[in-house]
Amino acid sequence: MKVLAGGHCIDRIFDAIEFVRNIREISSIAIGVVREVELDFHLLHFNQQPIPKELLNQCLDRKQKKPVILNNCRKCRLCSETCPSGAITMGSDRPSINMEKCLACGYCLPVCPEFNIRFA
Ligand code: SF4
Ligand code: SF4
Repeated sequence: MKVLAGGHCIDRIFDAIEFVRNIREISSIAIGVVREVELDFHLLHFNQQPIPKELLNQCLDRKQKKPVILNNCRKCRLCSETCPSGAITMGSDRPSINMEKCLACGYCLPVCPEFNIRFA
């Protein structure tokens, strides 16, 4: 289970985490962390310590997460077919991402057979 639904639940991060933690059948959860501020946030949250507002704002800022397509593309188009917002279009050698359309959901990352898409 993706606790934050690939980023869609980021605006309700506390509700999303607590919802999953309160499912009795689940004994552990995994939350993907891309940036150091996210790690700091989760450590404070899970240790029930106060979270500075600035740190919270940094974690919720989607614009700070940007998918990047590297050079090892086999042109399979799986990323562009998966993107829910139509942000990825195929170029002659590899896809490109329209950051105006990108939701930073992360769905394009795991479908790439070459691990060619990363968050930066
Ligand atoms: S992160 Fe989400 S919205 Fe952005 S390009 Fe990838 S699949 Fe599309
Ligand atoms: S999924 Fe990966 S290999 Fe396939 S087109 Fe996209 S970047 Fe290239």
